[in-house]
Amino acid sequence: MATPLLALDIGGTKLAAGVVSPEGEVTAERIAPTGDDPTPEQVIERLFDLSEEALSRAGLALSALAAVGVSFGGPVDYGAGKVITCHHLSGWEGVPLREIVGERTGLPAVVDNDANAAALGETLFGAACGCQHVIYITVSTGIGAGLVLSGRVHRGANSMAGELGHTHLVPYGPRCTCGRMGCLESVAAGWAIAGSARDALAGGADSVLRSIPLAELSAEDVCRMAQRDPLARQIIDRAGGYVGLALARAANVINPEIIVVGGGVAESGEVLMAPLRSAFQRYIMPEVGEGARVVQSALGSRSGILGAGALAAAELLE
Ligand SMILES: [Zn+2]
Repeated sequence: MATPLLALDIGGTKLAAGVVSPEGEVTAERIAPTGDDPTPEQVIERLFDLSEEALSRAGLALSALAAVGVSFGGPVDYGAGKVITCHHLSGWEGVPLREIVGERTGLPAVVDNDANAAALGETLFGAACGCQHVIYITVSTGIGAGLVLSGRVHRGANSMAGELGHTHLVPYGPRCTCGRMGCLESVAAGWAIAGSARDALAGGADSVLRSIPLAELSAEDVCRMAQRDPLARQIIDRAGGYVGLALARAANVINPEIIVVGGGVAESGEVLMAPLRSAFQRYIMPEVGEGARVVQSALGSRSGILGAGALAAAELLE
């Protein structure tokens, strides 16, 4: 086996460390909950505890590894190796994560946001294997996207490419997490799906979702009920339709071979994918649509760790 890599994943709900081969095999992996808004120092300490455990399971020393890749759950200034901000955890603005990880491990290090990492992970090891032009979108609590163009991650002028979640879709639509109104996220992210269901129930709609206390109602509940409940189905159809519309617009610009849909809401499968595909086909220019498949993520919950591994393999081994 070629020299293994250390892969680190920092997310709002979980932290993960793994030993990954340059071919995308996970030799050992340790996962822990992120916890209740820890400081960056606490997150980094926990992450290195997990790394030691993963290395010990793999029977390897740090010195046996070639490089370390980090997938971070928020925008990252790729050139500087610094976190721009994090919407789920506080205190991360400007943290020089690449330098910290490089010094702690003594290895060449690379840091990028989770959507870029997952896009590369799907391209090297997953659903987009062998493709050159890829759009990856994650529909989860928020909505993020990563672009691979001519086989490389496209990061743009200041590392902000792929903000498909904040594409404006609905005139005078709901207020978004970014402060503007009517973004894709405000009508299709996990928080928006749960919010639509709560609003409909508060307005007296008839639905089996009523069996769940309103404050606890989640997007996962709405997805789960969508097979048998008309209100839940209507909410997911609408969210999937908006994601399909945004993807059709992005695809008309980029002309991808494949669009990979990941994230917690997408794990509900055809419930979301069917209305998404149908809207995508309705709105895309036919000649562009002919060349583009729309598929579900192959890496699933391992997209963070395999994305981090893919980053290290693609950016540091060549
Ligand atoms: Zn927005």
